[in-house]
Amino acid sequence: MNYNEPDHIRMLRETLQKFVEKEMPRELAREWDQTNEYPAEVFAKLAELGVTGMVMGEEYDGSGRDIQATMVIIEELSKRSMAVAVPYIMCTCYAGMNLAECGSDEQKATLLPRVATGDLLFAYGLTEPDVGADLASVRTTVVRDGDELVINGSKRFCSGAEICDYIYTLACSDKEGPRYGNLSFVMIPPTTPGVTIERIATMGMHGAATTDVTFSNVRVPLNALMGGEAGWNNGWKMLAGPGLDVEKLEVAAIAVGVAAAAVEDAWEYSQERQQFGKPICTYQSIRHKLSDMQTKLHAARLMMYHAADLVQSGEPAGVETSMTKMFTTETAKELALECQTIMGAYGYVKEFDCERYVREAIVLPIFGGSTAIHLNNISNWMGLPKK
Ligand SMILES: Cc1cc2nc3c(=O)[nH]c(=O)nc-3n(C[C@H](O)[C@H](O)[C@H](O)COP(=O)(O)OP(=O)(O)OC[C@H]3O[C@@H](n4cnc5c(N)ncnc54)[C@H](O)[C@@H]3O)c2cc1C
Repeated sequence: MNYNEPDHIRMLRETLQKFVEKEMPRELAREWDQTNEYPAEVFAKLAELGVTGMVMGEEYDGSGRDIQATMVIIEELSKRSMAVAVPYIMCTCYAGMNLAECGSDEQKATLLPRVATGDLLFAYGLTEPDVGADLASVRTTVVRDGDELVINGSKRFCSGAEICDYIYTLACSDKEGPRYGNLSFVMIPPTTPGVTIERIATMGMHGAATTDVTFSNVRVPLNALMGGEAGWNNGWKMLAGPGLDVEKLEVAAIAVGVAAAAVEDAWEYSQERQQFGKPICTYQSIRHKLSDMQTKLHAARLMMYHAADLVQSGEPAGVETSMTKMFTTETAKELALECQTIMGAYGYVKEFDCERYVREAIVLPIFGGSTAIHLNNISNWMGLPKK
């Protein structure tokens, strides 16, 4: 792998950095975090840059499947705010990737052009009150009634349900069917009668607010079934398909972005803050911390882009993407806390972004497969005997 960014990626990164400085200043990022509101107008401007069609073909107005470019955009947005980074993922990856990988021809033709214009957001309705990591056990049901689907059940921690066009809902479509062969994905507009959405107060990841969603005899047309009729009972294959590696990388790219922001702020602060008559960056304990942070950030970024390169080339990357998700998110958590240590009391107050980085970083090892689940997968997939 060539570790130098190709010209088109370097230019894209510069474009994003300029966009973030102009449209996403720190004061606005703090406001979105405090109000837990989604800045739709900023997202619309981002979409005008033509960056939402990154994982789909030109026949649907996309720009081809460029995983590395997608991760650059997520990284740059995440350095400043989840309130734009998460909706970007909801559009480009949740909607774009799933439709491109799993949609019927009709679904692709009608919905993917809306991804390219930033006009289609999916929220993930996977987790339930009693179902976390063990997603094959979801209890939400979908049954067919003529030309309609009827959905009943509850989803928990559904981020962005209020702002999405469809809640991408994993449901049990055959209660008697075999495990992994009895699930389907349904696209449910949040405004459909019978859908109730209530906010959950979370520490961070504000903007695309996290919610509880209840489905009570919700009816949608049959074409809301992902993949069309062929998608019936094929939900697990869709969940565990090629999109899964990209999903792990999305969280890793957020982690690299948050970690980079934390390192940058700590680096700057250490030069400004004077104690005992000199900047704290002159003390060895602070210098070592910052050197360690830069090294770990470098390692996390290399790992993420290496895994993105593997996924782009179509090579098997389940192990590498799990390692990357686990390492980058644990690193982001560590670096955000180190930033707080360097900033002392100021790292604990809301006027400084460090406080937000800590809250954002803490969630990253939890979702997208927890650290423990990825550690299970790495040794299992690398063939370590269990007995
Ligand atoms: C802010 C936020 C936003 C979220 N957004 C979404 C969203 O948009 N859509 C969505 O569907 N979900 C979302 N989630 C939910 C997230 O995906 C789940 O938290 C995650 O799947 C894990 O489920 P759980 O937290 O219930 O943990 P559990 O699965 O109950 O696990 C609890 C603990 O046990 C460990 N554990 C579980 N099973 C094993 C095992 N086999 N081996 C070893 N350890 C194990 C876990 O690592 C964890 O430490 C969000 C969560 C948060 C906090």
